[in-house]
Amino acid sequence: MTALPFSQALDVVTQALRAGVSGHPVAGIESLERLRKSRAPAAELTGRRGADPGIPHPRRTESTVLSSAPSSLPKAPVVARVPVVADVAPGFHSLDALREAVSVCVKCPHLMASRTTTVFGIGNPRADLMFVGEAPGAEEDRAGEPFVGESGVLLTKMIVAMGFSRQEVYIANVLKCRPDMPSGASDNRRPTAREMAACLPYLREQIRFIAPKVIVATGAVAMEGLFGETGPIGKIRGRWHDFSGTPVMATYHPAYLLQSGTLSNKRKVWEDLLQVLERLNLPVSEKQRGFFLPKS
Ligand code: SF4
Repeated sequence: MTALPFSQALDVVTQALRAGVSGHPVAGIESLERLRKSRAPAAELTGRRGADPGIPHPRRTESTVLSSAPSSLPKAPVVARVPVVADVAPGFHSLDALREAVSVCVKCPHLMASRTTTVFGIGNPRADLMFVGEAPGAEEDRAGEPFVGESGVLLTKMIVAMGFSRQEVYIANVLKCRPDMPSGASDNRRPTAREMAACLPYLREQIRFIAPKVIVATGAVAMEGLFGETGPIGKIRGRWHDFSGTPVMATYHPAYLLQSGTLSNKRKVWEDLLQVLERLNLPVSEKQRGFFLPKS
């Protein structure tokens, strides 16, 4: 396990003590205050002034159920048990400040301990079109970029078929850390509802800064992360949803197309994306309209 800088480790311990760790004492307000004040000399040791500038100090709204003290957290538990904070104070002054805050986020200690890096998002920060997926997988965790690997290649093809380059749109996930897996596992697990609830405020802020005209949510988990329980993707895709005033088109995840890439499913996704082009008031060529139609 990578050793944390003192200030981050202190955040983890403070969060655990405030919430009360199962089997461990709960700290009183006075003790927490003394612990908080101890940040100053630590910051000086690391060459920083005052509190970590990139770490938000969110309102704690959710109780914590830690199975062990943070220093002995298992390297990669399969089941996430430790969503510590379900909200984050808004008010970041820029997308870069938000990225910085995410890069040192400790709200899910089990994910913080297992991630290689956070995966914030990539693309045009002024994009009209934004894609939202569920969470980084193993490759994204290593690369620090969402939608790399096979799914990413297919998503990029879809973006290009729409008439954009990958750099012209913005791509992000609901979850900014890879859901933890046993050491060395190359497959991925679905993020839990609690993990997504903890991370959603970051995505909200991202969307606020980017202000896309349209969001495409890829897959049921991304929709669940944005809206809560929404039902099977087969029932909710192809329709418009509203995320705080931004229209969201739900469609299948590229990974699903890779697994069950029937012409019919490809056409369904393409029809969803045609709706997006129309919503963006972009011209659609006859060639584009005909993609994935069965040849007569
Ligand atoms: S998943 Fe999101 S909320 Fe949880 S530690 Fe990572 S960045 Fe923080």
